[in-house]
Amino acid sequence: MFIKIPKDNKDESKGEYVQEDEPKYTISIAAKLLNISIHALRLYEREGLIIPFKKPSGHRLYSDFDIERLKCIREMITERKFNLSGIVGMLSLIPCWEVINCSDEDRENCDAYKKSFGTCWSYEHKGNICSTMDCRLCKVYKTYGRCSQIKSAIREITNNV
Ligand code: SF4
Repeated sequence: MFIKIPKDNKDESKGEYVQEDEPKYTISIAAKLLNISIHALRLYEREGLIIPFKKPSGHRLYSDFDIERLKCIREMITERKFNLSGIVGMLSLIPCWEVINCSDEDRENCDAYKKSFGTCWSYEHKGNICSTMDCRLCKVYKTYGRCSQIKSAIREITNNV
């Protein structure tokens, strides 16, 4: 099945759509690709670890990037022995305000800046820069979605602060 990515759904970091963001796998195919249950996929979504594309019907679709992100989550669970709260806690520490360089005013209006209970995209955003952004395509969501990139991404931020 091919779903056209809406025009404003572009990769902020590159200014263009990328193939890996195309929502194309149904939840049952994604579960098969990862060799996990549909229940596990729903749980990861509820915990704020993954943001699948939602069709108007409510059905979820997963992109190649989502699959990569889920592989990283599975690696943290099976090889590094993190539990879900540990992964959420780790991701909640990402200084998203530095990554997207939001203003002092935006930070004042942002729970993700002030709290660390969940991933930044799991907070409700009203009256700040993130309220108009598509988290699925945001640099924060994407850069920290691959186990192989997390460390270099943190290094880049800490070198620039
Ligand atoms: S747009 Fe979404 S993912 Fe990006 S920093 Fe804001 S809340 Fe986080």
